Amino acid sequence: MSSIELGRAPTPGEVGPALIVENLVVRYGATVAVDGLSMTAETSQVTALLGPNGAGKTTTVEVVCGLRPATSGRVRLLGAEPGSRQVAERIGVMLQQGGLYPTARPLEWLTYLARLYPSHAEPSALLELVGIDPSTRTTTRRLSGGEQQRVKLAAALLPNPEFLILDEPTAGLDPLARRNLLEAIGARRDSGTSILLTTHQLSDVETLADRVIVIAGGRIVADGTVSELTGADDAMSFGSRPGLDLTDLAAALPASYRVREVRAGSYVVHGPPTPQIMAAITAWCAQKGLMATDLAVGQRTLEQIVIDAGLEQP
Ligand code: ADP
Repeated sequence: MSSIELGRAPTPGEVGPALIVENLVVRYGATVAVDGLSMTAETSQVTALLGPNGAGKTTTVEVVCGLRPATSGRVRLLGAEPGSRQVAERIGVMLQQGGLYPTARPLEWLTYLARLYPSHAEPSALLELVGIDPSTRTTTRRLSGGEQQRVKLAAALLPNPEFLILDEPTAGLDPLARRNLLEAIGARRDSGTSILLTTHQLSDVETLADRVIVIAGGRIVADGTVSELTGADDAMSFGSRPGLDLTDLAAALPASYRVREVRAGSYVVHGPPTPQIMAAITAWCAQKGLMATDLAVGQRTLEQIVIDAGLEQP
């Protein structure tokens, strides 16, 4: 195939997680980099992995790509084993380091890579899609940082991937280059591609991510949409001891209110904040002999969530 196939929307009934990670453990000698991590990435969604340095994001991504074996646990990517033949031609990977041949022009490089795939998009059309002139005579090493990132994204899109893995795709880009790249990634998602993204750029996450998973110390410490994690919609938040009986708390509130433990000991109550609800939350905690700390209307920022996760990292 030599045309651009902009993916396809999943048909009803086939929607399920594109990636399933169950109880993943990866050890480097005595270091436990990933410590029993379970997560999913849904089809046609952008799932962002966030967390402080050393949290285990890159290691997780490497296992999902099939570049690194798991010490234990189970990973299914598009229903198959990562790194297997069934998966290799259906995924695109854009890693932070490398991925370009320095003395090749963009079109030469993509044309070379295209030969590695039995079925692929048309290289010059892909370059146009990401905003690079296919006829440019500039070699990839002389392109600006933003242009290089876009050529790498085009390379990752060559196999018309059903699943796209992007490690820090906007690192070092100026605001316009970042916006262009985010638009290109968002367009892929909208045409049906499932995307797993790691980034430190929280504004990218707010712009693009359907789902956010925060990792610290090799474990998941928060999982939800941006608005669920930050409580950006109508919400109140409070802290208490981890593992509260949320069914019991919800029963003490009007039926329309939902309660979630967004990370250990950090709770968000979704629903319109009112003085009565705030009082009901503290009364319920008092009845259980618990302190409700940091009781607040609305929100914690994503930045605060990641900073807290880093502070609590073992
Ligand atoms: P992140 O991408 O979130 O910064 P990493 O997956 O790179 O985290 O690292 C997780 C942990 O594993 C860190 O403690 C890191 O020092 C360690 N680590 C990563 N790669 C190796 C390696 N090749 N050998 C030994 N330890 C490693």
